[in-house]
Amino acid sequence: MIKTIKEMAQKTAKDTGIEAFKENVIEALTKVHRYKFVPDEQKINAYHNRPLPIGYGQTVSQPYIVALMTDVLEIDSRDVILEIGTGSGYQTAILAELANKVYSIEIIEELAKQAKKRLKGLSYNNVKVKNRDGYNGWEEHAPFDGIIVTAAATHIPPSLIEQLKPGGRMIIPVGEIYLVQYLTLVEKSKQSEINTRQLLPVAFVPLTGCAFVVAN
Ligand code: SAM
Repeated sequence: MIKTIKEMAQKTAKDTGIEAFKENVIEALTKVHRYKFVPDEQKINAYHNRPLPIGYGQTVSQPYIVALMTDVLEIDSRDVILEIGTGSGYQTAILAELANKVYSIEIIEELAKQAKKRLKGLSYNNVKVKNRDGYNGWEEHAPFDGIIVTAAATHIPPSLIEQLKPGGRMIIPVGEIYLVQYLTLVEKSKQSEINTRQLLPVAFVPLTGCAFVVAN
């Protein structure tokens, strides 16, 4: 799986600007066993470089995408990270290997419960999982050095931009729901200027339950 991820990084480098993932990201991917995060019937597929069903109509992302989204956050061991969309907790565990603290929000109660139990069982004591809609982020623990949204949004939620530290980075799939989205890197400068860059076309499950303004 790691070999395939490294090859894909090279193949997509012209879009992402990343030839090779950072060594600490590869180490985290090597250390976190994906089979521990998927249902029994999917364990046989755990090391294939593709998304897998985790129940409740949701998926754990393709390992290459997990690596890319983690890499672009440029996580430091002192960093505090916010994740929207805990799912199985696999991406959460990768983040927890690299960061000081990870706050993760999952909208589906049963998935949040399972992920919390799984991560605790694996001794990730620097992770907090909450069951609710993550559209408005987690104000109480803001600002964050990095924010990762693992479900597709039609726009970048304004609260998440506010909760990003100056100098921080956010990665989020943005685009038409159930069509193609672009993995979008949001950088907040030290002066709080926002710069966005589309990296790759992707297909994510939608960010649900979020607040929309309906024009009348
Ligand atoms: N990163 C996860 C993993 O490693 O298993 C996979 C995440 S899956 C692609 C997207 C997750 O986002 C789903 O579990 C879904 O329930 C969750 N989600 C969707 N909308 C959400 C919202 N508004 N707030 C929080 N979580 C949400």
